[in-house]
Parts: sequence; structure tokens; C-alpha cells
Amino acid sequence: MKQWLLELRELILPTVCAGCGRSVEPATVLCPPCDAALPRFEIPGPTPPGLDACVAAAEYSAATELWIRRFKYPKPGLAGIDTAAGSVVRMLACEAAARAPGEPPALVLPVPLHPRRLAARGFNPAGLLARSVARAVRIPMDARALRRIHDTPTQTGLGAADRRRNVRGAFRAMRSLPHAIWLVDDVTTTGSTLSEIARVCRAAGARQIVALCAAATPGPRQAPGTTAGVQQATSPLPATNGSERSFRSGLHRDASDRPAS
Ligand SMILES: [Zn+2]
Repeated sequence: MKQWLLELRELILPTVCAGCGRSVEPATVLCPPCDAALPRFEIPGPTPPGLDACVAAAEYSAATELWIRRFKYPKPGLAGIDTAAGSVVRMLACEAAARAPGEPPALVLPVPLHPRRLAARGFNPAGLLARSVARAVRIPMDARALRRIHDTPTQTGLGAADRRRNVRGAFRAMRSLPHAIWLVDDVTTTGSTLSEIARVCRAAGARQIVALCAAATPGPRQAPGTTAGVQQATSPLPATNGSERSFRSGLHRDASDRPAS
């Protein structure tokens, strides 16, 4: 979106908290109390196999789950577009990107939905997040680089081994990939989906693969570590100089993000 259009939107849209409607500083999504209800990761968890790092912004707490559900399952029709939830979840994805180790990659890829699910839902939530992240760091995003070729049953309720089996062979790379990529998803649990995609991406040429998620279930992420929300991988990427990448998503309250990605 053009910068002038963003600025115009900031003028038109009231600067209020997406959670409670209280007035907030310009370009702020949540007021401090609403923001504090989304616990951020202080301690990293294990990096799923095949990834160089996996950064999740927030714990999948009750409050986080509520925002993500609103974002992923909007009510049908134009009136159902939940711009507040979109702003919050995009903010979390961009926070994860700001903490990603290493240099920004050459390409951002969303975790794809199976075409049947994409048609049923009308949009890929991970695609919207990937687009926000890509815009924020000004690097290309390709929603068609990966395809989900098997409509795997839901992972809910499955253990780690079953999840791995469930997604094995479910993805295909549709093009050769650059050396460094970011994979974006909304929520990760065991990371089996991300691992399987990483395997496919490596076969397509990617060598540095960092996953970014708005949220992760806290269970498997409680191993002691060093950097908030970031787990070092077998081939550690350089840290972001101890300071978070300084960019803003610039996409708060973006109502234009409904179409399929
Ligand atoms: Zn609030």
C-alpha cells in the first residue's frame, strides 16, 4: 500500500486500541493493558528439525487464541472482516520478524493451505501474515512458491510422531528457491508442518530457513535458552546485533487484506 494512503488512513481512522477502543498513540495497535494480555515468549523452545530458527512472538494463551480465532474465522460477508483481529495478529507476526536472527531473506513464503480449504475459506491467514511481514521488510513474498498437495486431516489431538506422519509428502515446491527464506505461519505447535516444509524448501535450493509465527503453544518451548523466542539451530545465524529490527508493519487496521493470497 502506498505510504500516502497509509497516512491518509491514519488520519481517517480513529487511533484506538483494537482490543478495548481506548485511545492509543498513533500507529499503536493495542493499549498497554490489552497488549499485556498477550504473553510474549521470554524463553525459547526447540527449533523444529530442518529449520535454522523458529521465532514465535506470543504464547498461545487464551487471549492470543481469541485474537487468532477472530482473525482466521471471520464471520461471512464484508461485515465480517475483523480488522482489529487482523491488526493484532499481523502485529505479532511482525514482532516475530523483528526478532528473526540473521539478515532479512530474499523471499517470504506463507505456509500454504490446500486449494480446497483455500476455496472454502476464501483466504489463507498465513498468506496475509506473510504479506504484512514482506511489506514491512520490503522483500518479495510468493504465495504460490509452495503448494499443499494433500489435504491432510487436522493435526489437533495428534502427538508429535503422528503429526510428522500426517504431513509427510503434503507439500511441494513449485519453483527453485533462493538461499535464505522466511516461512510464515499463524500458530505452531510441534513444528512438524514447518519441518516438512523446510525439507521441501531445502530440496528446492533454500539453505537458511527461518520460521516466523504469530504464536506458538508454550508446551514444547520451555527449554532453557538465551534469546527471547529464538532458538539457535545447528548452524546458528548471526543475531540481529542484540537489538530488534526497527521497522513497523505500517499496516495497522488494514481492511484490504481479504482476498486469497
Ligand atoms: Zn485496550
